[in-house]
Parts: sequence; structure tokens; C-alpha cells
Amino acid sequence: MTQSGTAQTNHDLAAQLRDSRLSKGIQHFIGGQWVNGQAGKTFDTHSPVDNGFLAKVAEGDAQDIDRAAKAAWEAFQTWREVGGAERRRVLHNIANLIEKRSSEIAVLESMDTGQAIRFMKSAAARGAENFRFYADLAPSANDGQSLPTPDFINYSIRQPIGPVGVITPWNTPFMLSTWKIAPALAAGCTVVHKPAEWSPVSATLLAEIMDEAGLPKGVHNLVHGFGESAGKALTEHPLIKAVAFVGETTTGSHIMRQGADTLKRVHFELGGKNPVVVFDDADLDKALDAVVFMIYSLNGERCTSSSRVLIQQGIYDEFTRRIAQRAAKIRVGDPLDPETEVGPLVHPRHFDKVMSYFGCAREEGATIAEGGVRVGDKGNFVRPTLFTGARNDMKIAQEEIFGPVLTAIPFGDEADALSIANGVAYGLAGYLWTTDVTRAHRFAHGLEAGMIWVNSENVRHLPTPFGGVKNSGIGRDGGDYSFEFYMETKNIAISLGTHKTARLGVNAAPRVTKEEAGE
Ligand code: NAD
Repeated sequence: MTQSGTAQTNHDLAAQLRDSRLSKGIQHFIGGQWVNGQAGKTFDTHSPVDNGFLAKVAEGDAQDIDRAAKAAWEAFQTWREVGGAERRRVLHNIANLIEKRSSEIAVLESMDTGQAIRFMKSAAARGAENFRFYADLAPSANDGQSLPTPDFINYSIRQPIGPVGVITPWNTPFMLSTWKIAPALAAGCTVVHKPAEWSPVSATLLAEIMDEAGLPKGVHNLVHGFGESAGKALTEHPLIKAVAFVGETTTGSHIMRQGADTLKRVHFELGGKNPVVVFDDADLDKALDAVVFMIYSLNGERCTSSSRVLIQQGIYDEFTRRIAQRAAKIRVGDPLDPETEVGPLVHPRHFDKVMSYFGCAREEGATIAEGGVRVGDKGNFVRPTLFTGARNDMKIAQEEIFGPVLTAIPFGDEADALSIANGVAYGLAGYLWTTDVTRAHRFAHGLEAGMIWVNSENVRHLPTPFGGVKNSGIGRDGGDYSFEFYMETKNIAISLGTHKTARLGVNAAPRVTKEEAGE
């Protein structure tokens, strides 16, 4: 049996979880209580494998958000005062429980999102790591700087901003939620979480784990529902001081507008159309592994996926031939089978969107070198796809497809590669393959992206800044960067009693004119 179980053990656990958890329906968690929506409405979540019914979910609205925001506000008054060592203890407890329940988390996540179990086991482990990492930073979260002058002791401190809204998307929802919630709690903020309507299941498990780990009631609240209702209400609520959002670029614009009246602080992690640039001097075997991994793992439903491969002219034909060969052998199928490499896409609407780009590629004159078809006749399975002969002005090179679909574009020299790489609205991540270190530096400096990996796929180191430029986002996560978002910095200036204050009103009595005296 592998670390990801066997297909049989995963299916057994899935059947058990359907009976024990999903059949009971999914509720909100507000003020430490599992509750239905006040209006009593629900929606259904489905299995991407066959689009059959998976669970009934409470549908939150503005009333539920209001209740959750009030609970978060009340809990904030005490959680903000809890010492860093205690916050560290609770966050480590959460990490322990995530590890203990990682099989359950991985299986539920696969069932709800269609992600292959081989990746969901490590996504659960990463969730625990996120909590551990921020647990250890909690005691120093309030620390500031000492900035003295001859006449003053200036020192700054950081204090939690207040209750925050966390709005997450459907791709790897468990891991992404922990990435946002762990630093917020470590900073002393309280949270109202609105997960994506297409993947509500694992957020419920996370709420349960945090409660069991001893997080005080109301510190974390969960409201399910749709973006236009529950999500919108959260971004507009006056008691919510900041919104951490991960999702599409257009939704980010809506949230900015919605939050304007209450002057919300916002942090946006948005879409990407990330280039991987392969120069002809690169280690091409390693580059091939990374290119294939970064577009086809996680069903290509990954913000940092390298969805455009820019290949130097002389190696273009051979390198695209090798990508196509590998793509053709990728195992598409049952997400609960550890042998599966690509599972079904999350939702039929997303499946239709991804499929629409196959027609688009043909119309634009690109070649479908591999894939470009669905797999089977039910569920949301597509073949890993490679488009060749593409130009950067084509839709398939400009728009985020967010599926296992790669667009290959040839380039001549370094300047050409940089112009193509930067010639999109997005700027999240970039990947470079070259053995010329000077060129790697030069190119990395010129590339318009928040994160660049040289001779590597995306390998995260949690203290490093994570985030994008251009239409890919605002702000950075990771390490101390997250605290800059979840906290207010306050400066305290203490006079040493040596400076002179300018004195006003100490001269002879002022002359008052007749007009001023009202005569
Ligand atoms: P989405 O924008 O459709 O939805 C994300 C969340 O926003 C959901 O919870 C949704 O209910 C909510 N929402 C929708 N409209 C809203 C509104 N008006 N007000 C408040 N909330 C609203 O995104 P998605 O389709 O769920 O996720 C995929 C997108 O997320 C892709 O574009 C992907 O690149 C992006 N993403 C980015 C990162 C990153 O780090 N940059 C990470 C993961 C995903």
C-alpha cells in the first residue's frame, strides 16, 4: 500500500465518509455552533467523477454573514489579548489533528474536487505545515522596530487588524484555506471563511478540526454559499476589517468595488498565465519533467501552473514532441486511485470552459499536438492537451484556461522570449531553464512576475513572498509578509524630555479689529 492508500482502501473510506458525514449535510459553523442558514436554504455539491449528488450544503446569505461577523467581532475582543505562546499551542494542536486526519481530508478533497489522491495527501500535509509554520511565528507577530532619535524613543508594535474575511476558490481548497487562516489566527485576528460553492466539503472538516484543537468559540466561523450573495455580504460587512481573497481576477475587481464603502484592506491572489521559458542550453531532461509536472499535475487547476511553454526555436520541434509523448501517457481516471495522475475537472461548467479552448485553438490556427478531447462519456475528464504552433496574441496564449492544457510558443533570442513572456495581462509566476547564470539573473529581473524559479518547478519555501503583479494580485503572503496584511503597525514616540516644543500664544495680547470684534 502506498502513502496514498490503494484504490480499494480509498473507496472504502469514501463510502464510509458518505454515510457518516456527507449524508448528514454540510452546515455553517458560527460562534462555535453548527447551524443551518437562517433562511433555511441549501444547495447541492456534486462529484466531478459523474456529476452525481454528493452532499446538501447550507446556503448562507447576508443574515448568516452578519451573524458570523458579529461572532468574530465578539471573539476578537478576547483572542487579540491571548498571548503568542498560547496561540502557538493552539495552532500546533490544529496541525497535529490535520496530520492525524490526513487520509480523511485527502479522500474528501478528491471526492469533492476531482483532484488525484496522490496529490491530495501531500496537500493535507502542507496544510499542517502551514499551521506549524505560523504557530512558531505567533509569539513574535506583535514585534516591531526600535527607531530612536536623540530626543525620542520611537518603537513600533503590530496589532491584529480585527475580524477578517477569507474567501477561497475551489482548487486545492483545504491547503489554500490553511494558507490564509493560519497567519490570520497567529496574528490575533478572528476569521469568517467563505469557501467556494463548488468545493465546500473540506472547509467543514477544517472548522471541525480547529474547534477540536481548542480554538475558542467565534474565533473561526464558516459560512457556505455563493459569491454574489454570501461572498458579497462578507466583503461589505462593516465589522470585517480586511478581506483575503484567492480567485479569479474579475472577482477581485468586484471585491474591490464592494469593499470600497467600508474601506476594506484587500489582499488578492488572482489568475495567471505563467510562462516556462526553455533555452537551448538548458538541461532538457529536467526541464521536460518540470514542464510536464507544472501543467498536468493538480489537473492543471493551479494558479502557478506553467500554462505557456516558450521554447527556443532550434529545440522547439524536438521538445514539443517529447512533451506530447509524455502527455499521451498520463493516466487520467478515478481520482481515488493512487495510480491516477489527472482526475476529472471540478464542475461541468469548468469542463465546458476548458473544452471550448480546443475549438478556439483550431479556429486560431494552432495545432492540437496531443489531447483536445474528453475522456469517457460521463464526468468531467479531459485528455492532457498540448497546443503547438501558437502565437502569443492567440486566446489560448492569453487567457487562463485552468485545465491540463499547455500552449507551446517558439522564440528566437532572449529579447524575443522576454517580450512574449511579459506580453500577457497576468504576472504571477515564471520559470526559466538555462545553464547560463548571468542570463538567468538578467531574465529574472526583466520578467514581470511576483515569483520566479530558475531550473526548477514550483518548490515553496514558506518564509518567501508569494503573490503576483499586474492582473495576478495585490500583496504578498508567506513569512512575515502575511502579518503585514493581517496587522496594523503602530508607532509610539516617547520624549526623553530634551526636545523643545514651539510655543504659540505667548506674545503680547493680540490686537482685535473692530470687524473681528463684531462692532
Ligand atoms: P472565483 O473568483 O470564481 O471564486 C473564488 C471565490 O470567490 C469563491 O468562494 C466565490 O464564491 C467567491 N466570489 C465570487 N464572486 C464574489 C463576489 N462578488 N464577492 C465575494 N466573493 C465572491 O474563482 P474560482 O473559479 O473559484 O478559482 C479559480 C481562480 O482562482 C483562478 O483564476 C486561479 O488562478 C485563481 N487562484 C489564484 C491563486 C493565487 O495564489 N494567485 C491560487 C489559487 C487560485
